[in-house]
Amino acid sequence: MPTLIYRSFLPITGVQSSPTTELTRELSSTGSTTKRHGSRSNSTDSAYEQSFFPMNFSKSSPRSSLARLNSMPPTKPPVISVKIESPPLVCYGPPKNSTGALLSALAQLEILEPRQKILSFEMSLVGEVSHKHSIVSSCADCKTQTSLVHKWDLFKEKRILNKGNHSYPISFLIPGNLPASNTNPLSSISYFLKGKAVLSNGETTTFKQPIKIARSILPPEQPRNSVRVFPPTNLSANIRLPTVVYPGGNFPVEVRLDGVLSANKKTRWRLRRVVWKVEEHTKSISTTCVKHRSKLGSGKGVLHEDARLVGSAELKNGWKSDFQTADGRIEMELECGIPVLHRAACDVETPSGVEVTHALILELIVAEETLPTAPVKYVTPTGAARVLRMQFRLCVTDRPGMGISWDEEQPPVYENIPGSPPAYAGTIEEHNFSATTESLPLDEPPLYSPAISGDDSEATQS
Ligand SMILES: [Zn+2]
Repeated sequence: MPTLIYRSFLPITGVQSSPTTELTRELSSTGSTTKRHGSRSNSTDSAYEQSFFPMNFSKSSPRSSLARLNSMPPTKPPVISVKIESPPLVCYGPPKNSTGALLSALAQLEILEPRQKILSFEMSLVGEVSHKHSIVSSCADCKTQTSLVHKWDLFKEKRILNKGNHSYPISFLIPGNLPASNTNPLSSISYFLKGKAVLSNGETTTFKQPIKIARSILPPEQPRNSVRVFPPTNLSANIRLPTVVYPGGNFPVEVRLDGVLSANKKTRWRLRRVVWKVEEHTKSISTTCVKHRSKLGSGKGVLHEDARLVGSAELKNGWKSDFQTADGRIEMELECGIPVLHRAACDVETPSGVEVTHALILELIVAEETLPTAPVKYVTPTGAARVLRMQFRLCVTDRPGMGISWDEEQPPVYENIPGSPPAYAGTIEEHNFSATTESLPLDEPPLYSPAISGDDSEATQS
């Protein structure tokens, strides 16, 4: 019975970014404007305000400044935005081995008033799992479970900010075991950067931007080799296929069929038809929110499963039969693929029960025929036919992008920037950037199977 909750894999605390005021001021892009009007902050002089709000103030009468005071326009809330500075977030390798991906960005608070009192400003990275089939379809909390991955308290004490853009650097090491963003027929895993600023009048300004976290399993240099036998015949298939494939991409599959000639050389197998299919299997466990817990009982969920084809083809030719070798051989190279239009999901497995896996199914339809023996000159079918069916686990993963993990590249993170300017020589070596990884709580490795071994495959015939 599924008892795991998505929340449980995100107990991340620790890496905190608290930018210094100096840095903030330095990054503020509108420093000169702020300074010019700084001494006149409380003025209601019309000329002064018009320079800031020519549009809004043209509506109100400028006759008396007292009248204007009574009909003060509502304060314009600040605008939050985020400027991502890091490359696309790609966690390399399977969850239990991945060192994660480094996110660095500037959280920006644009003040539209000449001066504005802001009580607090925070950013957060949240993960959401949405189920297509939720237990209480009308309830948003049953449909979507939200978890906090990381929170940045950019400031918690009251600050008076001048008009213009105020930037706060944020950075975080996305844990390597975090499930990647995923959209499949039963559920979706999404991540968002959220921002919230609280104004002195109690109003809040919020911000939400999706952010993709990808996972890329890097392929080993050698492709995978599998051998299947089909007793009672002498037939054996040797299949070479890539260890990882990408949604929307093609991949080669080499097939070699040995033992085509029977031991007594009186009959042989001829390949008539080849069918390949890529199947996507999806599972998800819907749970309820706290309010609707009584619908199922505490810690319980409902398992949903789905299977669909995300690529297939049937071939009637394109192979080479060689009956001159000792036991006869048929060879071919198939161009298999997962067309973009199928919107295949990448493999994923989360402790909360979201699972996507793929399988390549290969069917070789062979027919038996009798070899000509004098005085007969022609090959005659015996009427026997077989379907040689093979199934291989296929690892569908995100494309590697630049293919370089952050820890191989070693870019500096903001919390590693020393308080004082670094000396000119010998400082870079002194900073151990990889220390950030070790401080992460990785105590809950997800149940992610490597998906590369071919042991799960099966060979059947009918
Ligand atoms: Zn609910």
